[in-house]
Amino acid sequence: MDLSLTPAELAFRDEIRAWLQANNPGRGPEDIEENFDFRLAWQHTLHDAGFAGIAWPREYGGRGATPVEQTLFNEEMVRARAPAPANILGLIMGGPVVMAHGTEAQKQRFLSPILSGDEVWCQGFSEPDAGSDLAAARTRGERVQGGWKVTGQKVWTSFAHRARWCMLLAKTNDEPRYRNLSYFICDMQQAGVSVRPLRQSTGESEFNEVFFDGAFVPDDNIIGSEGGGWNVALATLMFERPGLGAASALGIRMTLTELAELIRARDLQGDAAIRRRFAKLVAETETIRLNGYRGLARAGDGVPGPEGSIVKIQWASINQAMTELAFDVLGEAALLDGSPWTYRLLRARANSIEGGTSEIQRNILAERVLGLPRLR
Ligand SMILES: Cc1cc2nc3c(=O)[nH]c(=O)nc-3n(C[C@H](O)[C@H](O)[C@H](O)COP(=O)(O)OP(=O)(O)OC[C@H]3O[C@@H](n4cnc5c(N)ncnc54)[C@H](O)[C@@H]3O)c2cc1C
Repeated sequence: MDLSLTPAELAFRDEIRAWLQANNPGRGPEDIEENFDFRLAWQHTLHDAGFAGIAWPREYGGRGATPVEQTLFNEEMVRARAPAPANILGLIMGGPVVMAHGTEAQKQRFLSPILSGDEVWCQGFSEPDAGSDLAAARTRGERVQGGWKVTGQKVWTSFAHRARWCMLLAKTNDEPRYRNLSYFICDMQQAGVSVRPLRQSTGESEFNEVFFDGAFVPDDNIIGSEGGGWNVALATLMFERPGLGAASALGIRMTLTELAELIRARDLQGDAAIRRRFAKLVAETETIRLNGYRGLARAGDGVPGPEGSIVKIQWASINQAMTELAFDVLGEAALLDGSPWTYRLLRARANSIEGGTSEIQRNILAERVLGLPRLR
């Protein structure tokens, strides 16, 4: 595989670098809601310059960038320590799933406001009794004139309180599992939807419980066919894992730089145990990047394969190990000085749960990549 860049790719990289130098707003506020607003504004700026969803086709408001250009863009974002855009679930899942499975009318309606950040998306998959076992979802969609009436509960729904649209999985018939679910785009701003925040160990409420009490979804807002929601849900997860992993891998690389600064500031750069742990993190982070290149070498259009689970597992374990190292470097001060590392350590615990637990990712790799016997 030839990893050298063409003159056009080098020019593209220089263009991004110069633009980021002039426009990067830097690190946002610590408060989660203020930070969300800050990143929405940043997403608008990216969009105005044609840099939101740069790999999306031009007809849907993207730049039609090649996978190599997308990678160059990501690398420049790391280099500049630029923040991530706010509407991340719309960008990595909602948009791609509408492009892959939606009708032309849905593409025209939904894609552009996802890119601009004008309409935030959330993911209503998990329920109190259906997390890893997603096909056990009980939220029900009942056929009514012109659409469906949805009743049930979702949980852990990130940014539901900021969302306009929800990717919602609901049971719409009594067929056996995998044939009884439909995939809706549900309007969150209607009387039949209520959102109740859940407080996390970090103290903030990034996710919520969402209650649907006769919420209406019009016919136009079903993706795929009635009863055909499972395949669309699987596609969403295939987009989510590498998307979440790749976006977060960028974050890890930025945070590693900060960790190096912290180690130096504490004069621990000569400590053999710290050096060893830090070097291991750098090497592991590099494997995420190289795995990304491997994906590039095989890149085609369409839905990514189950290999995305590798990046998801790596991201979770590296981020947890990194924040633990930072804690050991800080010692007691981590508890006393309101350091951002305290927040990061607590938030990182969720990395091996969100987007599917590490155990589930390992099952996927075992069964669908390595071809080992199925669990059931
Ligand atoms: C920060 C955060 C944000 C989230 N955001 C969203 C969101 O926006 N939308 C959404 O729909 N969901 C969201 N989730 C939910 C997340 O997808 C689920 O928590 C996750 O899929 C696990 O489901 P569960 O919590 O029901 O745990 P369970 O499925 O009950 O699992 C409990 C434990 O059993 C293990 N386990 C279960 N089944 C197996 C198996 N077959 N083999 C081996 N081990 C198994 C699991 O690994 C886990 O350790 C979020 C979660 C977090 C932490």
